[in-house]
Amino acid sequence: MANVSLQQVGKSYGKSVAVEAFNLDIRDGEFLVLLGPSGCGKSTTLRMIAGLESITTGDLLIGGERMNEVDPKNRGVAMVFQNYALYPHKTVEENMGMALKLQKMPKAEISERVAGVADMLGLTEYLERKPGSLSGGQRQRVAIGRAIVRTPQVFLFDEPLSNLDAKLRVKMRMELQELHDRLGVTSVYVTHDQVEAMTLADRIVVMDGGVIAQVGSPREVYDTP
Ligand code: ADP
Ligand code: ADP
Repeated sequence: MANVSLQQVGKSYGKSVAVEAFNLDIRDGEFLVLLGPSGCGKSTTLRMIAGLESITTGDLLIGGERMNEVDPKNRGVAMVFQNYALYPHKTVEENMGMALKLQKMPKAEISERVAGVADMLGLTEYLERKPGSLSGGQRQRVAIGRAIVRTPQVFLFDEPLSNLDAKLRVKMRMELQELHDRLGVTSVYVTHDQVEAMTLADRIVVMDGGVIAQVGSPREVYDTP
């Protein structure tokens, strides 16, 4: 677990400002939701934390260490994408263990870790299957499992439930909540869905046009007229 500190962090594409330099301190173990309409800068902010997008201004600290130029895989973060981003020709087990294999972790240790996480997520019986033969909810569990096996300091979620149907979205939302209660890993979660924000967040950051419009607990954000 680690805190994440954005100090005057901003992003421009040429002359166009996607995220205005802003300050935000995300506490150790906090579940922080970035909420706002399409195009307000949520994804860009998340991708800057992940290292998938360079930072134009300011400093990003994770666990007190400056990360601006640190390679994404060395930041202690794991990201879960909206479209799952699974390898179609690899099995669930291989997908989940991929990052550990790249880190040259011994095979037996990878298997053990993947098995433990698969058990936690109800994926044990699907380990030999390919993603294409799974339901949307199962695929999203694999994507989440792939992030968990890396035991990151920080989870980054980019609209992870938005491709699921309404019923499954509710179920997965509850599962994510339980997972956070259980693991307590610092999480930054991007969504435009107010209900998701309300139920998952310790704290909500409302973004609008590349700036922070409001910060507060779900209650504070929703009680504001
Ligand atoms: P959100 O995640 O809230 O939908 P984004 O962070 O994706 O918003 O985008 C914020 C703004 O930055 C938008 O105006 C978008 O068009 C712009 N933007 C994002 N990525 C790029 C890019 N690679 N080049 C130019 N503009 C971009
Ligand atoms: P999101 O679902 O996060 O809003 P988008 O569909 O807006 O994502 O963007 C998808 C991809 O296109 C991202 O990699 C983003 O950086 C890029 N992008 C978004 N807006 C622009 C833009 N105006 N010019 C160039 N690239 C963009």
